[in-house]
Amino acid sequence: MTAKIIDGTLMAEQIRHAVADEVAARVSKGLPRPGLATVVVGDNPASQSYVRGKQKACTEVGIESFGYTLPASAGQAEVEELVMRLNADPRVNGILVQLPLPEGLDEEQILKAISIEKDVDGFHPLNIGRLAQKGRNPLFIPCTPAGVMFMLEQTLPSLEGLNAVVLGRSNIVGMPVALLLVRANATLTLCHSRTRDLPEVVRRADVLVAAIGKAEMVRGDWVKPGAVVIDVGINHVADASRARGYRLVGDVAFDEVKEVAQAITPVPGGVGPMTVAMLLKNTLRAAEIAPKGQ
Ligand code: NAP
Repeated sequence: MTAKIIDGTLMAEQIRHAVADEVAARVSKGLPRPGLATVVVGDNPASQSYVRGKQKACTEVGIESFGYTLPASAGQAEVEELVMRLNADPRVNGILVQLPLPEGLDEEQILKAISIEKDVDGFHPLNIGRLAQKGRNPLFIPCTPAGVMFMLEQTLPSLEGLNAVVLGRSNIVGMPVALLLVRANATLTLCHSRTRDLPEVVRRADVLVAAIGKAEMVRGDWVKPGAVVIDVGINHVADASRARGYRLVGDVAFDEVKEVAQAITPVPGGVGPMTVAMLLKNTLRAAEIAPKGQ
């Protein structure tokens, strides 16, 4: 079997078009453009590059973006004050504090300071708590996990009763993906660095989501024939044949697994573009739920 390639670039483009249309419709009704504020603390080049990508994506769909950069020396109070100011700013519908924050800052307190109506990253403890509870609904779902679920929903008619295995239990990917799969009535196994006999556990998966940050760790013979595989990993591996000296690979050995799986996401061009698309969708939603006049 050669797997269907789940094209994240194409899916993300469709979502971006839909968001752009809805923004244009809002504007034509005289409503304000949605606004996203990004907060970067320190000079981590990866964070700066991610945020630039998010700002550019906002501009392309007609969402206003407001960029704030604080020095690495910024204290807890300074970051929280900025967040509070943005909570009160009616032009700002969504607030994104780029993670990781420099050492010494209390990430949980900063995320908690974001108004939950503006929590477009979905990391506020109240939004995550609601995600974990039956019968409760978060206002926003974290962007990468939302992208993973969107891809699964486009690929499978239902997740109900399927064995889903998630590799990785981070706050930003693995754990929220696991919670979402449970909400979709899959039977979940959540694996991490202490899981024993990982290949054997992975072989039971009808749906596999890999988010561990280990280049091509999941091999072809780990995967059940016909499984759907979503590869969240983004890893740099040295490659002298490339001008930049490296290439990007996922957590899954793509060439091997595509011969076994029913469907698989590539890296790059899989989950990555979906994350930004979901951020735009969340920002539009934040504008829609904002009190009148904002
Ligand atoms: P993370 O915070 O480093 O978490 C990694 C998780 O993988 C942890 O739960 C860890 O277990 C587990 N793990 C590590 N080595 C393992 C092993 N050998 N066997 C089984 N489990 C193992 O990483 P993350 O932030 O979730 O990111 C994961 C990957 O996704 C990275 O490559 C990252 O670049 C990528 N990512 C992509 C996007 C996107 O938009 N496509 C977004 C976010 C992240 P313990 O909990 O036991 O330590």
